Amino acid sequence: MNLTHIEHLGIAVKSLEEAIPYYENVLGLKCYAVEEVADQKVKTAFFKIGQTKLELLEPTCPESTIAGFIEKRGEGIHHLAFATDDVAACLAEAEEKGVRLIDKAPRPGAEQMMIAFIHPKSTKGVLTEFCMKKQEEEK
Ligand code: ZN
Repeated sequence: MNLTHIEHLGIAVKSLEEAIPYYENVLGLKCYAVEEVADQKVKTAFFKIGQTKLELLEPTCPESTIAGFIEKRGEGIHHLAFATDDVAACLAEAEEKGVRLIDKAPRPGAEQMMIAFIHPKSTKGVLTEFCMKKQEEEK
């Protein structure tokens, strides 16, 4: 598996509006993008620190998995995302080594990334994501 760095940490919050000022005013980071990912029923806000990002996740409806997470465990770190150049290969290798997959194949995420999750039951409790930049269109 070829992981290059921690691409981002996903952090579940009840409200982006209430959470963003902490990151900007206390930590001095700058929110450079807010994006709704309808597929995942979340609104995201991004900050960059070095080559790693923080991804705040606010549920857009009660059926969102983020809403369920907050209800059960409260606001806080939700997942860890590793950058790779081949998400499908990471999934195949993880599955071959007995890891339970959440996503059988890469799917579109925020920030023009292709993403896939593996199950926290197989990762000592850490919901883990693999992600890579979408391939550029062939010229
Ligand atoms: Zn993520």
